[in-house]
Amino acid sequence: MSSQTSGPTEESSTGAVEPESAVETARRQLEHAAELVDIDPNIVERLRYPKKVHEVTVPIERDDGTVEVYTGYRAQHDSVRGPYKGGLRYHPEVTRDECVGLGMWMTWKCAVMDLPFGGAKGGIAVNPKELSSDEKERLTRRFAQEIRDVIGPTVDIPAPDMGTDPKTMAWLMDAYSMQQGETTPGVVTGKPPVIGGSEGRDGAPGRSVAIVTREVVEYYDRDVAGTSVAIQGYGSVGANAARLLDEWGATVVAVSDVNGGIYDPDGLDTAAIPSHATEPEAVMEHEAPQTVSNEELLELDVDVLIPAAVGNVLTAENARDVSADIVVEGANGPTTTVADDILTERDIPVVPDILANAGGVTVSYFEWLQDINRRAWSLERVHEELEAEMQAAWTEVRNTFDDRDVTWRDAAYIVALSRVAEAHDSRGLWP
Ligand code: NAD
Repeated sequence: MSSQTSGPTEESSTGAVEPESAVETARRQLEHAAELVDIDPNIVERLRYPKKVHEVTVPIERDDGTVEVYTGYRAQHDSVRGPYKGGLRYHPEVTRDECVGLGMWMTWKCAVMDLPFGGAKGGIAVNPKELSSDEKERLTRRFAQEIRDVIGPTVDIPAPDMGTDPKTMAWLMDAYSMQQGETTPGVVTGKPPVIGGSEGRDGAPGRSVAIVTREVVEYYDRDVAGTSVAIQGYGSVGANAARLLDEWGATVVAVSDVNGGIYDPDGLDTAAIPSHATEPEAVMEHEAPQTVSNEELLELDVDVLIPAAVGNVLTAENARDVSADIVVEGANGPTTTVADDILTERDIPVVPDILANAGGVTVSYFEWLQDINRRAWSLERVHEELEAEMQAAWTEVRNTFDDRDVTWRDAAYIVALSRVAEAHDSRGLWP
């Protein structure tokens, strides 16, 4: 792969300028993909907008007796292939537009995996770190009540996201079930296994990132054994991907958390480094020959770079300094549109988030099936079925990549958009 550079670009070939909101990026990606697919422009026009966005106020009594009112959203983008599916985040910067953009991505993520779901995203504009556990429980139960009419196992199925976790899903499922008068585990995924959650759900996005990394490395005639990897973010996605790749013989030379990273050219002992779930933000406490900043980590000369922390880390500022041969997106939206163009121009393949981290929603689908059938799967079965689903999606995207001579992101979008458009075309426009 060549790594030639050209003069600095502030604007992408599609006219994107940084910073760009999630909904702007999502619309731009849809429009770009639509140019590559033979699709009725009326369907594209429909897909530029969410089907519905629900905005609710969520009043809760704080522990000191005062009442605080938060704003919550559930943006439902498209359900032509099945019930809406997507996370709920508790974060101070949650907005209507962010939920719409992230909901659109969920539509493509479910479609590229060929899951019978559409896309949605929601959340509450709140800083969960400022709430006690009791306050979070009251907030979740009241939010569940406010959105009860628009969610359900055949309607819209939330899951954990930033600031929410299995406990949050347990409260939501309990509040919904109480109002329905029956235990309804299929209303949410990402629950604790004891109430219908799936084994292997926590590790699934990291596992799919590792599987896709293995496949792309082999595609470029290399072997995962000995491949050098740098991973930003050591949470559910980053740590699980790092440990699996390490197990398969890759040399994980650098990992980081929000405080910075550690580096060992001979390879780190990934199992010994505490993940976000076991000990938050403790990566730097692990002994290693060198430390690196998060900025430096993104520019390390490695075979594979996996940004697995937050969005918008590969930008117009640093895309020319990326020295990795391949980028696999572990986080959602780590590459801005401008950076994506620069990396394409530099011939650095970027395997997109909607494929790479889709193991999460895929195991959520397994969880939903287990809930409907009231029968739990073993961890071994979850791993086997996830491997099969990832292989199927990878093969479809790889074939499109080969046939169409496009980027990996375009190939994934072509597969996803074609499936959604065909379903719309087949069902027609009502009335
Ligand atoms: P997490 O909270 O488990 O871990 C996040 C990690 O990133 C932590 O190590 C944290 O210290 C680090 N981090 C946070 N801000 C950082 C920054 N500015 N710079 C460097 N490191 C930083 O989160 P996660 O579940 O692993 O999610 C990571 C990304 O993957 C997010 O973009 C998320 O949306 C996406 N994702 C998660 C799932 C899932 O089910 N967990 C599924 C698909 C996609």
